[in-house]
Amino acid sequence: MNIPVNQDIDNPSEKENKPTLTYIIDDRLYINLCNRCTLVCQFCPKTHDDWQLHEYNLALPKSPSVDSILDSIGDPKQYSEIIFCGYGEPTLRLKALIQIAKALKEMQVSDSSGPTPLRINSDGLANLVYKRNVLPELAGLIDSWSISLSAHNEEVYIKHCQPTLNDAYSHVKQFIQLASKNFKVTATAINGLEGVDIESCKTITESLGAEFRERFIDKLG
Ligand code: SF4
Repeated sequence: MNIPVNQDIDNPSEKENKPTLTYIIDDRLYINLCNRCTLVCQFCPKTHDDWQLHEYNLALPKSPSVDSILDSIGDPKQYSEIIFCGYGEPTLRLKALIQIAKALKEMQVSDSSGPTPLRINSDGLANLVYKRNVLPELAGLIDSWSISLSAHNEEVYIKHCQPTLNDAYSHVKQFIQLASKNFKVTATAINGLEGVDIESCKTITESLGAEFRERFIDKLG
């Protein structure tokens, strides 16, 4: 199934109060850019209409503008790392993501200690969605990727992630391999999900040239 990548579709749930455009965990800042996904992960609170992450409600009544995100970030030097994440796939708003990353780099260009590193937490399906290799567009802007491998084979991946695009599992692996050539890449899987073989996930990840990190079902986010 194709999804409309250029359309700003938002969370159907109308939530009260001001939307959470950015949120802080420890000394890291997370950007809540998008509520859309290409996956329907069965372990994700959002799939069960729970938009809460710690004290933050990540439901977005509409897609936030680039300027509103930049206003919400303020001085990037306050943070050890800035991460495009949230309950949604950040690369589905690729244009906005690139604009924000460029602006953040430019506002720190004269800083002798270098800009705050930028990371994307992703499903690794951007090239499948856009039908082109988007990685060169992010070179020099993004410092690292965290990519959800999620499973050691397609059957288990489909069971837990329920991709809306065909052949998603093989595309995630291709993306991890391609991204690892020019970016620092960590692939992840959740220890505790039924049928997920963490050791095999680690072996697959390392064969693709990336580092592996296991996550835990009771410590998402
Ligand atoms: S890709 Fe992320 S936000 Fe989307 S359903 Fe899966 S875990 Fe949730």
